[in-house]
Amino acid sequence: MDETERIRQLYERLTAAAQAWPPTALSHYEGRPFQALIAGMLSAQTREEQTIAAAQALFALADTPEAMLQLSDEQITAAIRPVSYYQNKARFVRAICRRLVTEDGGQVPRTLERLMAYEGVGWKVAVLTLATGYGIHDDITVDVHVARIGKRLGLVKPDMYAPPRINEELKQKLPRQYWPAWNGLMVQFGRAVCKPTYPQCAACPVYDLCPRVGVVQTGPRTFKDASIGQAG
Ligand code: SF4
Repeated sequence: MDETERIRQLYERLTAAAQAWPPTALSHYEGRPFQALIAGMLSAQTREEQTIAAAQALFALADTPEAMLQLSDEQITAAIRPVSYYQNKARFVRAICRRLVTEDGGQVPRTLERLMAYEGVGWKVAVLTLATGYGIHDDITVDVHVARIGKRLGLVKPDMYAPPRINEELKQKLPRQYWPAWNGLMVQFGRAVCKPTYPQCAACPVYDLCPRVGVVQTGPRTFKDASIGQAG
């Protein structure tokens, strides 16, 4: 099988399997750029359940930059307490809202460069905001799932770590029509099957398409065949 066909089958099988997996947190904010930006910033180094809890608590208090600026520091801090570094992130919430109102007319910018000028907003959050909030998919959001699984599947070099470079490498390999769904698909797949420490290779829908680069141990509960799941 050539690489084009392998990638096509990977995408189609994972897309079909994903119907049974829980949706990603940020899919709640599709078409809502302000919510996507704030929730994306809150999600840094934080588990998804905590991001959702914090974002929902905050948006219940205020769901526009203008309204959020009316909240006290204590209100913001209490709402987002479930996320890591919540005190810094509370400062970023206020800084983002202030800049949105004073410099961008309350509208979330539509370019990477302008978004990355906001305090607390790095490349990943900017790409995620454009994708989720505006449906702009000029790049692929690279998070830990996209990076890890890309390497195991042999789509990304094992020694590549910088998200923008992984994005460029994936864009070379994946047809453009796969870019919009790739991040969400990898997040779902990474939580359900291709887990960080114990990937469930024996139950994986793309087992026969995967070189399992760097995989040294697999999920014990589904590990039925000693020949399955070893690095190869
Ligand atoms: S075979 Fe294993 S390493 Fe490869 S994608 Fe599936 S779960 Fe991940």
